[in-house]
Amino acid sequence: MACDGEFSYKCFRYYFISASVVGGRYNPALMKPALTLWHDVSLRELNTFGIDAHAHTFVSVNAVADLQAIAADPQLSVLPRLILGGGSNLLLTQDVPGLVLHMVNTGRMVVGESDQHVIVRAQAGENWHEFVQWTLAQGLPGLENLSLIPGSVGAAPIQNIGAYGSELAEFFHSLTLFDFVTCETRVLSRDDCHFGYRDSIFKHALRDRAVIIDVSFALPRQWNPNLRYAELAAELAAQSVSDITAQDIANTVIAIRRRKLPDPAQIGNAGSFFKNPVVSQEQHAQLLATHPKLVAYPQSDGSVKLAAGWLIDQCGWKGRSIGPAGVHERQALVLVNRGGATGADVLALAKKITDDVRARFGVMLDNEPVII
Ligand SMILES: Cc1cc2nc3c(=O)[nH]c(=O)nc-3n(C[C@H](O)[C@H](O)[C@H](O)COP(=O)(O)OP(=O)(O)OC[C@H]3O[C@@H](n4cnc5c(N)ncnc54)[C@H](O)[C@@H]3O)c2cc1C
Repeated sequence: MACDGEFSYKCFRYYFISASVVGGRYNPALMKPALTLWHDVSLRELNTFGIDAHAHTFVSVNAVADLQAIAADPQLSVLPRLILGGGSNLLLTQDVPGLVLHMVNTGRMVVGESDQHVIVRAQAGENWHEFVQWTLAQGLPGLENLSLIPGSVGAAPIQNIGAYGSELAEFFHSLTLFDFVTCETRVLSRDDCHFGYRDSIFKHALRDRAVIIDVSFALPRQWNPNLRYAELAAELAAQSVSDITAQDIANTVIAIRRRKLPDPAQIGNAGSFFKNPVVSQEQHAQLLATHPKLVAYPQSDGSVKLAAGWLIDQCGWKGRSIGPAGVHERQALVLVNRGGATGADVLALAKKITDDVRARFGVMLDNEPVII
């Protein structure tokens, strides 16, 4: 990103003045630009809903040193912060008042091996899908079911991304974070992260204080295809492939996703806007008595996950709009920006849908994207 050209907002370079004053004498040779701060930055191209909210102050984070510089600065460290990856799981309902830290640190490598696993690490700013494809190209299967999920590697642990019968936690090894409270970096293991369904410690105790810098994955040497997701298994069976490879699975997942999900480059959206609600067996039985076609998935802990898309569809919302915010024609779970929607428009639509589902089924829907 440059300071001139297509960007019309104001920017200035931020200097480590103290580093340039040595022995009481000003030494311009030591005065290094550390961070470039930008003001009043449109985030429209940086969130997949395409909402035109502005960041009061914006900085690109290339390395831990950038985070340390922000934490050490008396003015920057007190600003409210928004960590931004690919902006594919956010709904911006207002301008962002403080500092947006855009994670752009890149790099990926094999960092360790054991008899059972190969450990790979990617920096937070890496694109998730490109990282998955890179692991497959290295002959390291495991993450193929998670192909084509938009966004960055650094955001993937936040909601323990999942799709097509797999979730990040299965292959997670560890991550490095910068903690704005202690101003230190530390490593978290899988147990430390408290992964759950679209959930982790980063949505709770570490919310607003941790910046994920890199994530490591333990990929199995002994690979078995994961065909738990019925549609994926059926599609692969239809291809009559004799020895299914991880790349076959990735290609099939990519094809299904392209067919089923709207491309944010064509129409603004953040994927599923609602989580699938989890209910008790008793509540499931009661619902089934009145709604025999209820779509539900029994969970290993005895609870039952309901298909939120089915509940929304039953309420007649598929394809409907309120102003510029709408429900996708093929996917009732996906809310879209039909052009010029604000975050408030999308949130108002989400509230109406939530109210209708609660009134009809007595089930409360929970938003999946982070509402800002
Ligand atoms: C078309 C479409 C399909 C999708 N399909 C799926 C799917 O199948 N499964 C699924 O799980 N999700 C899906 N998503 C949601 C989204 O892709 C994931 O949640 C993704 O991990 C978000 O990454 P991001 O970099 O865009 O995060 P952002 O939207 O930039 O940020 C999301 C949250 O993470 C925080 N964050 C981001 N980076 C960091 C960091 N380095 N350190 C600390 N906090 C950070 C942000 O502050 C924010 O709270 C889909 C989205 C779209 C648009």
